[in-house]
Amino acid sequence: MIGKELLKVNNLKKYFPIQGGFLGRTVNHVKAVDDISFNVYEGETVSLVGESGCGKSTAGRVILRLEEPTAGEVIFNEINMTSLDKANLRKMRKDLQIIFQDPFASINPRQTVAQVLEEALQIQNLAPAEQRRSRALELLETVGLAPYQADRYPHEFSGGQRQRVGIARALSLNPKLIICDEAVSALDVSIRAQILNLLKKLQREFSLTYLFISHDLGVVRHISDRIIVMYLGRIMEIADKISLFENAQHPYTRALLSAIPIPRPGRKRERMVLAGDVPSAIDPPVGCRFHTRCPYVRDNCKEEVPQLRSAGNMAAGHLTACHYFEEINSP
Ligand code: SF4
Repeated sequence: MIGKELLKVNNLKKYFPIQGGFLGRTVNHVKAVDDISFNVYEGETVSLVGESGCGKSTAGRVILRLEEPTAGEVIFNEINMTSLDKANLRKMRKDLQIIFQDPFASINPRQTVAQVLEEALQIQNLAPAEQRRSRALELLETVGLAPYQADRYPHEFSGGQRQRVGIARALSLNPKLIICDEAVSALDVSIRAQILNLLKKLQREFSLTYLFISHDLGVVRHISDRIIVMYLGRIMEIADKISLFENAQHPYTRALLSAIPIPRPGRKRERMVLAGDVPSAIDPPVGCRFHTRCPYVRDNCKEEVPQLRSAGNMAAGHLTACHYFEEINSP
C-alpha cells in the first residue's frame, strides 16, 4: 500500500429517524449507512461509488461528523473521531476537508473569493492578518486562477472556476484528507477532466489523500487507486481499480460497469439491465440487499446476509459480498 493507514472506518451506521403520529414519536428509520468498514492509506485515492441513495454521501458526512454516527467508529490518524468533544473536533477538522458539488452553496454570496479564503485562514489561525491576502492569492494560483480574480464574487465564476475556488478553500487549511463529494458531477466533460487532473497534481504536490464520492464509475476510473461499491447502505465490493474494472465479481458491480459507454465507435459492451428500482432504505430487503434485483438470486440470498470475503486476488485486497460469486463468474 502507498503509506500508513490514515482513515479507518469500523462498522459505521447512520440511521435517520422518521417521526410520525400525533406525538411525533420515532416510528421507523432510514438506514442510510448500515455497517460499513474500510480503510484509506496515506497518499491514495479511494472512491465510494453507487447509485443515488446508496449512502455514499452520508458516509462522507458521518466520517467528518457533519452528521453524528448511529454506531461504529472513525479513526483518523490514530485518533477516534467519534469520541472527540466539540473543541477537539474543531481542531481536527482542518486535517479533513470536504469539497461539495457546488462549493459556493455554503458560502456567503456577498464575500469575494479572497475574503472567503482569508476567513478560512483566520478561523483556524493559520496566517497572521498581514499575510492572509498574499496566502489567498497564492492559493488561487495553485489551483489555476489569476490574482485579479481574487476580488470577484461567487456569481462571477463559471462552474469549473467555482470548483477551483472550492479546492483552494479546502487546501487553505493544509488538510491531510479531502473528501470530494460529487465534486465534478455538475461539470461538463472537458472541465471535469481539467478538475480531475488538477486534483491529481495537487495530490502529488501536497501528499494529499482523497476519499472520492461519485455515482459515476467512468469518472472514478480516472482518479482512484481503490474503489468501494455501495448499494443500499452496505458495501458490495472493494477492489483496486484494475481488479474492479477487469475482474468485477459482484453482480451489482458488473451491472454498473456494463452501463459505462465505450468511447470507441463500433464497440459495445453487453448491457446488464437491472430489474426494478432500488428498494427503500426504510425497509431494506432481508438477507442480501441486492436480492430483489439480482438475476442470480437463490432462496438463501433472501435470508442470509453475505459478508465481504476474498474474491481470490488477495494481493489486491479484492473483497466481495455475494454468496455465489464463484459460481456466477466461473467460465
Ligand atoms: Fe445475487 Fe445472491 Fe449474490 Fe446477492 S448473494 S448478489 S442475491 S447471488
